[in-house]
Amino acid sequence: MALIVQKFGGTSVANPDKIKAVAERVLKGHRAGNRMVVVLSAMAGETNRFVDLAQQMQNIPDPREMDVLLATGEQVTISLFAMAVKEMGFEAVSLLGDQVRIHTDKMHTRARITAIDSELINRHLEQGKVVVVAGFQGVTEDGDITTLGRGGSDTTAVALAAALKADQCDIFTDVDGVYTTDPNICTSARKVDRISYEEMLELASLGAKVLDIRSVSIAKRYKVPVHVRSTFTETEGTWVVEEDKAMEANPVSGVTYNRNEARITVSKLSDTPGIASRLFTPVAKEGIVVDMIIQNTRDGNLTDLTFTVPKPDYKRAMKIIEKTAAEIGAEGVTGSENICKVSIVGVGMRNHPGIATTMFDVLAREGINIEMISTSEIKISCVIDEKYTELAVRSLHDAFGLQNQ
Ligand code: ADP
Ligand code: ASP
Ligand code: MG
Repeated sequence: MALIVQKFGGTSVANPDKIKAVAERVLKGHRAGNRMVVVLSAMAGETNRFVDLAQQMQNIPDPREMDVLLATGEQVTISLFAMAVKEMGFEAVSLLGDQVRIHTDKMHTRARITAIDSELINRHLEQGKVVVVAGFQGVTEDGDITTLGRGGSDTTAVALAAALKADQCDIFTDVDGVYTTDPNICTSARKVDRISYEEMLELASLGAKVLDIRSVSIAKRYKVPVHVRSTFTETEGTWVVEEDKAMEANPVSGVTYNRNEARITVSKLSDTPGIASRLFTPVAKEGIVVDMIIQNTRDGNLTDLTFTVPKPDYKRAMKIIEKTAAEIGAEGVTGSENICKVSIVGVGMRNHPGIATTMFDVLAREGINIEMISTSEIKISCVIDEKYTELAVRSLHDAFGLQNQ
């Protein structure tokens, strides 16, 4: 008898019929004698609808109230799901994040899980119930409701699997696994059977939204085997597991893109110690995460500094930077929201030289200008004009032979 955590995303529970189909599927595991814990997202489109509603009330919605609103989407699906299971003649119980006691910090709308109480869930499981937990939400020590950031239900599922010492965590979604690139923009994308935690971590951080990045880091830390698979078919999906020798054979295992960042350039800054700290401290204090940073030296004692921030934080970041730039005597601040970061990822990159050159050649051949570059041990990212996203992803995917590995 195994303990299995199964998470179903928004498209999998988009309407009553789909919720019933998911309940049937979970009950198969239950009937086979497994203890089943189900994590659900809100119905597809609901979370976006709440964001729109909130923006009609307040220009920048109050984060605490935003979380009270956002958490309602998952409350709807878990209750309906439990009803469906009961209608099928089995016992189920739906639980919100604060009922389970999924403790988080106080960072509303992007909270981190700090601890999970497994007691209540275990008690219900011992009574033979299917336990249905609301994804994406938790509670602070003061009893305030929090949410974990978009896509956060994956993180709830993997964190629960770790806390409950589950045998496996299934992530059910609208694609049948992790692909070499987003199958929705590249028809030659191919499903991979196995991928290492480390590669998945990079893919997720660089834009492959099939798994939320925090879910992957928890899976890696607690060695939770994650199976990403389709809700709508029975086919085997992708196992996210520890790295092995076979994975190093190919230099590149995936291509990602992220259109969710914006670029800011501060020009003609004085090239003296302390300037970067002066510029970035107020940005960090506002909770804005800076990603790529590039500094170029100009003639004389001047330098240009370019960096990226998440698109939703662009306007706020611009305001802060403009103020600091004026205080420290920089010449000007410019920026663009029309950028895209395309990246190639692979553990095999460590022992295959020349991968970066091939990437630059491919982009050059397509006439795509590279605005920024960053590399790590197992990834290379280039910032380009957003309008070339699809072209860049498809050309890189084909150039590295990912369609037929
Ligand atoms: P869910 O609502 O089930 O959480 P998401 O929309 O968050 O589903 O994630 C699934 C989507 O991730 C797919 O429909 C696909 O468009 C996208 N995606 C991006 N990159 C990849 C990739 N490398 N492999 C699979 N899917 C990807
Ligand atoms: N409903 C939330 C979202 O749309 C969480 C999730 O689905 O993972 O982001
Ligand atoms: Mg998701």
